[in-house]
Amino acid sequence: MLQYLFDDTPGHGTTREIVPGVRWLQMPLPMSLDHINLYLLEDEEGWWIIDTGIAIDPTQPLWEEIFEQELGGKPVIAVLCTHLHPDHIGMAGWLCERWRVPLYMSRAEYFGGLSFSRMEKHHYSWTSEQHYCRAGFSPDDIEKVKKNYGGFSSVVTPMPTAYNRLRDGNSLHINGNKWRVVVGSGHSPEHVCLYCESLNILISGDQVIPRITSNVSVMASEPEANPLKDWFVSHERFLDILPSDALVLPAHNTPFYGLHKRLRFLIEHHEEHLLALEEACNDTPSTAVELLPILFKRKLDGDQMGLAVGECVAHLNYLHQRGMLDRNIDSDGHYRYTSIDETLALRLRREKHDATADAPIQV
Ligand SMILES: [Zn+2]
Repeated sequence: MLQYLFDDTPGHGTTREIVPGVRWLQMPLPMSLDHINLYLLEDEEGWWIIDTGIAIDPTQPLWEEIFEQELGGKPVIAVLCTHLHPDHIGMAGWLCERWRVPLYMSRAEYFGGLSFSRMEKHHYSWTSEQHYCRAGFSPDDIEKVKKNYGGFSSVVTPMPTAYNRLRDGNSLHINGNKWRVVVGSGHSPEHVCLYCESLNILISGDQVIPRITSNVSVMASEPEANPLKDWFVSHERFLDILPSDALVLPAHNTPFYGLHKRLRFLIEHHEEHLLALEEACNDTPSTAVELLPILFKRKLDGDQMGLAVGECVAHLNYLHQRGMLDRNIDSDGHYRYTSIDETLALRLRREKHDATADAPIQV
């Protein structure tokens, strides 16, 4: 069981102290996941903002309320985004302009964010169409994707045109505390987490979240990516280098204890999905779209469908690149996956069965 620090959340426009100099606030999101957690770190001259919220109507006035009532008269001196997704970078441009302060990000996240936030409808090309077709979309569904295609400029204020690069192992000295940059990958390419040993606090962004599982997706821009491999590698590394009793400040849900438990759960969760997919492909050569019910039991709405297919392809790419699934194109242009050999799941089951059969009779 994970342990949560609070039973409730700070109201919009307010902050809550986690420890002196570290404050938590929430901003609204216009989807079923209805909030993001942002954090403030107090330095001598002012405040660091960690992640920024999405650029929708209420976010800017809520920030102004925070500035007026929650910062003790100090200015904002820096903005740091853990990764490129719009709920994290959405207000970075506005905040950096508002305070004329630098943006801190890792290089892959900054340039990825810049690129996605400037993408427009006409960037939809044959490569995007091919990606969705190969995943198993029908011509009608591909048309729908095309209609809704676009970057996330509508929910991101224009990003700052310069940034300060963060790399794994860098340290930020804030109010006498050393915050070490720990980079994870899989949910996004070079996701920054911050760990402070003296406070034993990890600001984990979307790399580790307690109740929901972060999306690990292959997108049309890099169809042969293997983000699930990066995800496993990152989680194993976090288990090695971060203490189990750290207080984790995630970007969604609420602050919690139980870092190692959560990391192990997430590794097992994806391993089970891999086994289930391998087993399903043992029976019938299947497409990613056909395999969705193996990973997602709930009904998926339009928004979730793209992420779900991306996540399914991430698992299939992982298995295919490890030589566990064969991949062929059918006459409709869909990739169909087949288990190459007896799957691990089936092998384990058979071995268990054999062991039972061979067991000496107990008298
Ligand atoms: Zn994210």
